[in-house]
Formats: sequence, structure tokens, C-alpha cells
Amino acid sequence: MSLLPSFPEVLRQFLKKPATNLFPAKYLPPSITGFLRKAAAGEVQVNPPVETPARFRGKITYDRDACIGCKLCIRVCPANAIEFIPETKTVRIFVTQCIFCSQCNDACPVSCLHMTDEFMIATENRYSEEMIVE
Ligand code: SF4
Ligand code: SF4
Repeated sequence: MSLLPSFPEVLRQFLKKPATNLFPAKYLPPSITGFLRKAAAGEVQVNPPVETPARFRGKITYDRDACIGCKLCIRVCPANAIEFIPETKTVRIFVTQCIFCSQCNDACPVSCLHMTDEFMIATENRYSEEMIVE
């Protein structure tokens, strides 16, 4: 098989700016906890992540005051990440269950759901305050 047809693409990719960087640091020490301690003390430089592209789908946000309680978002969510709160006629979104598909954003008739560019959301507690949007 000839490599010739793909050569222009290889060349294009070679000349393009990298889409990723060495995040959070160029070289990590053997111990991650040691690194985190040093980063907190300002002893090591932490690389900022590269800019997120347009229409990036990060952590969801919700404007509960604009919500009309129609439950359309719940019906389209493939991950069952949204539950209805009958007392307030609003919803609660479990971020650790969300697969960032944005279908609820598209279905919401009053546009009160949006995906942000926040992606550093790793956690040890899936029910922590930051992991539940309501
Ligand atoms: S973005 Fe997708 S997975 Fe996440 S809550 Fe909305 S519909 Fe569900
Ligand atoms: S689709 Fe929008 S308005 Fe309807 S319940 Fe969900 S968030 Fe509220």
C-alpha cells in the first residue's frame, strides 16, 4: 500500500500547533502527593491547560429561576443524570453521571441548561456539592 495519498495530511499535522500540552507539569515527581504539596507551596510551576475549543462541552450549568419544570431534559438524558424535584418543580443534575452529550441543552425550551468550559472536575466524592447542580 502506498503512503503517498496520506502524505499531505501527515505534513499538515506535523506543522500544526499541538492540541494538548504537558499538563499540569512538564515532569512529575515520582509521588503525586509530593507534587501536589509542592504546587500548593508554590515550589513547582503548574502549566495552565490549553484553551478549550469553541462549543466545548464541560460541566453543566442550570438557571433554576428560568426553569419551567417541563421535564423534557429528563426525557432526553441518555445517562439518567437528571432528576425532578416535585416540591420546587425544578431539576437536579448529577455531574458524575453526566456524559456531556448536551442533549438536555438542545431540548430545553427556555435554554436554562448550558455546557461550560469547566473540565477539571475530578473528585473522590460523587455526591459533593460541586458535583450536584440544582
Ligand atoms: S449533558 Fe447529556 S448526559 Fe449530561 S445531563 Fe444533559 S442529557 Fe444528561
Ligand atoms: S427542559 Fe429546561 S425547563 Fe424543562 S425541566 Fe429541564 S431544565 Fe427545566
